[in-house]
Amino acid sequence: MTDAAALPGQPRGGVLSGRATARAVNVLAPNPSAMTLDGTNTWIVSEPDSDLAVVVDPGPLDDVHLRAVIDTAEKAGKRVALTLLTHGHPDHAEGAARFAELTRTKVRALDPALRLGDEGLGAGDVITTGGVEMRVVPTPGHTADSLCFHLPADQAVLTGDTVLGRGTTVVAHPDGRLGDYLDSLRRLRSLTVDDGVRLVLPGHGPVLDDAQGAIEFYLAHRASRLAQVETAVENGHVSASEVVAHVYADVDRSLWPAAELSVRAQLAYLREHGLI
Ligand SMILES: [Zn+2]
Repeated sequence: MTDAAALPGQPRGGVLSGRATARAVNVLAPNPSAMTLDGTNTWIVSEPDSDLAVVVDPGPLDDVHLRAVIDTAEKAGKRVALTLLTHGHPDHAEGAARFAELTRTKVRALDPALRLGDEGLGAGDVITTGGVEMRVVPTPGHTADSLCFHLPADQAVLTGDTVLGRGTTVVAHPDGRLGDYLDSLRRLRSLTVDDGVRLVLPGHGPVLDDAQGAIEFYLAHRASRLAQVETAVENGHVSASEVVAHVYADVDRSLWPAAELSVRAQLAYLREHGLI
């Protein structure tokens, strides 16, 4: 779920569909839109010499897509053994129950309502299916239940909608909170600084090969939008819709409803911090 197309100064992305790293392959779902960019990225993650694979975000409820994910894994000699969700938005999670039925796998997610099976997913969990190591990184902000998955062997992080391959994400107020989102971006930045993460494997858009640059860009973009919102309020634009019309004048109007969610999150943040 995005609130803008590519932005000036933003690091450019590379691979869109197919193999991105030694352990990660993307099967692009056929659901492109202003909100989903090229469509949802469904990631198949597997240790190269293993016959087991983990699927992250099966995507929309679309049997052709779900079967294409299974076929892609099988052609590589792998069986899907586990399904994970980065968060509960339907473009990522709607097909999860059907996918679990087709693959006879469990679904693990932070939100208990999205799980199939008895295992949750949260801070400190490490996935080791078929020998592949994926560390769970809680990253609330886009939604309260957003998670990222750190794939240390490939110096990569799967980011769901927390960092996208193009544009910026929506902080989906009131479930998503800006303070949480900024903390999550800082947590991801520390993965790039302290843990060698180079690649962002996003939930939409192309792979980013400058993870630190992308996250720094997101932090700077948020700071500049926040300052714009603060100024708009100081100039008498009180309601969220007025602020959107003022601050997002350069953004296509079809994205204004999403932008309004982000503005509501920013107004809440500014109020909580006594800035307006
Ligand atoms: Zn989302």
